[in-house]
Amino acid sequence: VSTENCAFCEIVAGRSPDTLIHREGDVVAFMDAYPATTGHLLVVPMNHAVGLTDLDEEVGARVWRLAHRMGRAVLRSSLGAEGVNVHLCDGEVAGQSVLHVHLHVIPRYKGDSLVVRGAKGRAQPDRVELEETAAILRSALEGSTDS
Ligand SMILES: [Zn+2]
Repeated sequence: VSTENCAFCEIVAGRSPDTLIHREGDVVAFMDAYPATTGHLLVVPMNHAVGLTDLDEEVGARVWRLAHRMGRAVLRSSLGAEGVNVHLCDGEVAGQSVLHVHLHVIPRYKGDSLVVRGAKGRAQPDRVELEETAAILRSALEGSTDS
């Protein structure tokens, strides 16, 4: 996937309608056109990256910083949200629909109908299994940074 025909690159370039909230350097926050709750917004890097694999770590830190700030703004605002979900989907299997990395900032309201839940019927792993999985992740961590 390139920047051509990328819905978020089109928004960032001003070629597609959007409701911009805030721009900070190379990171922007705009309203999600299909909000899960009122105030649902997205934070994206202006330069195209698909997901965690090709996103520069420093850019990712800036994306998080603006999402953090937007989450605070949500809670401080008059929207009436009492909580926030910050959510990233990487890969189709994870529910990523636009292949340009984005953090969802989703205001939560008492009684809203949004459901975020754990996998059905997943048994709690024992300590041995957790250790084995941790070892796999530890070895994958080596060489996974940008620099
Ligand atoms: Zn893009």
